[in-house]
Amino acid sequence: MDNLREEIEKLKKEKNAVVLGHYYQRGDIQDVADFVGDSLALAQWAAKTEADIIVMCGVHFMGETAKVLCPDKKVLVPDLAAGCSLADSCPADEFERFVKAHPGYTVISYVNTTAAVKALTDVVVTSTNARQIVESFPQDEKIIFGPDRNLGSYINAVTGRNMLLWNGACHVHEQFSVEKIVEIKREHPDALILAHPECKSAVLKLADVVGSTAALLKYAVKHPEQSYIVATESGILHEMRKQCPNTVFIPAPPADSTCACNECSYMRLNTLEKLRDCLRDETPEITVDPAVAVRAVKPIERMLEISARLGL
Ligand code: SF4
Repeated sequence: MDNLREEIEKLKKEKNAVVLGHYYQRGDIQDVADFVGDSLALAQWAAKTEADIIVMCGVHFMGETAKVLCPDKKVLVPDLAAGCSLADSCPADEFERFVKAHPGYTVISYVNTTAAVKALTDVVVTSTNARQIVESFPQDEKIIFGPDRNLGSYINAVTGRNMLLWNGACHVHEQFSVEKIVEIKREHPDALILAHPECKSAVLKLADVVGSTAALLKYAVKHPEQSYIVATESGILHEMRKQCPNTVFIPAPPADSTCACNECSYMRLNTLEKLRDCLRDETPEITVDPAVAVRAVKPIERMLEISARLGL
């Protein structure tokens, strides 16, 4: 394992490569990444890096976002099969028909979409900035929000909007079970429930704090004396435990499983060995049709500009 880490460090230097890791990656990948963050932070980091090669340890749409922002750089992912059920729930041709059927609507898309869907979008959001970006539009703006129906319903509820929602969802966040969370809460009555807004509204109703992975982490770091039940992909517990070593974090389990935690099978496809191989062989590489990229970059840059303006 140490040899593998050394090889990765050596290859990063030799190739002027940067390794970006999402909070949902395996712990050993997070430990060798140059930067670990949520989707917004990874996009912000990709936009400013001076490295020649970006290795995106996350899923395919994250690699696409980096490629769209940095068309001249080589963007690699350790495993090309690392997709996303939420992005898959919104095929570009169907979304285009939906958008065309609603002229006059502003299209806001969650970052968990393909570049082709982003190319149909006015502004991209992440769970960190979705609420503020929606609120930056007039109250009576007609908005299509895609693809996550749970995040969209949550934003509608907290902003008093009535956005038209695409009917998509993430298989991981949809899996959390109210019954199992209530059971854990009974065993740990003092634990606060942290939940990601991609969870169903019944789970969000139980939560003490609803927020993006970065926001949930920030809350825990600010209140390390608490204990927490965490309803999002369990990879985030690695960074939570690193930053709050004395805090008790309990992963919320999925409904139909005997497993204690809820893992994204796509995120877990990336391994240290695959990371080493992809740095060494400079493959698999992410490519985006330049005609799509030129349209997809605009709503991503718009998100980055609004986020910078709002200090997010
Ligand atoms: S956790 Fe859900 S939204 Fe995130 S990458 Fe996995 S499938 Fe996609």
